[in-house]
Amino acid sequence: MPHKLPALPYDYSALEPHIDTRTMGVHHDKHHAAYVSNLNKALEGYPDLQEQSAIQLLQGLDSVPEEIRGAVRNNGGGHVAHSMFWSCMKPKGGGEPKGSLAKAVDESFGSFAGFKDTFTKAAAALFGSGWTWLCLNAKGELVVTTTPGHDHPMFQGLAPLLVLDVWEHAYYLKFENRRPDYITEWWNVVDWDFVSANMTAVQVGAGLQHVADWATGTWGKLEDGWAKLVGG
Ligand code: MN
Repeated sequence: MPHKLPALPYDYSALEPHIDTRTMGVHHDKHHAAYVSNLNKALEGYPDLQEQSAIQLLQGLDSVPEEIRGAVRNNGGGHVAHSMFWSCMKPKGGGEPKGSLAKAVDESFGSFAGFKDTFTKAAAALFGSGWTWLCLNAKGELVVTTTPGHDHPMFQGLAPLLVLDVWEHAYYLKFENRRPDYITEWWNVVDWDFVSANMTAVQVGAGLQHVADWATGTWGKLEDGWAKLVGG
């Protein structure tokens, strides 16, 4: 079954005034859609690989034939990262995390303000196109990391809980070159419930695959995209 573009879990205009309608439309319907279609194109003629989820493809990148490895890394990575990114946002989001996530943030960064500052600085300083992530490491600590292109933090042995797209296509229509302004606005739409649930899922399970399993069960609206991500 070919990989499918997951539907957005809210309307294109739902994140206004922070993230604008036009950007959401182009970002989801053109950019994310192109990664999905280019991933499918790359896998033409590789029936065994077509059976794998996008996450499985990234996990087994070394065994993907060299002639399509770059295309799978970029387009499969783009598909996985964007699918998670949409779910990290919601209308009337923002505020601060609660419960065990809030405690973990305090332990790892001193305070929520400390975390926000670390994450914002990493996102603003990332050179060129890439992503900024809040992750759990193998010791169960929260860490902020960045990845170039569409690379996934699993390549650094990290399980992602929250992700921000800092490619120019994510903000240029509204914010032009002002990436810091985009990041400031983005904090207002973060879905901390999603981030908390990801942390719980990783802590009780086996990491990344468990996050995907959890997402499959929870995000009915994304069922096609997530089902494909986890190979269901
Ligand atoms: Mn993007």
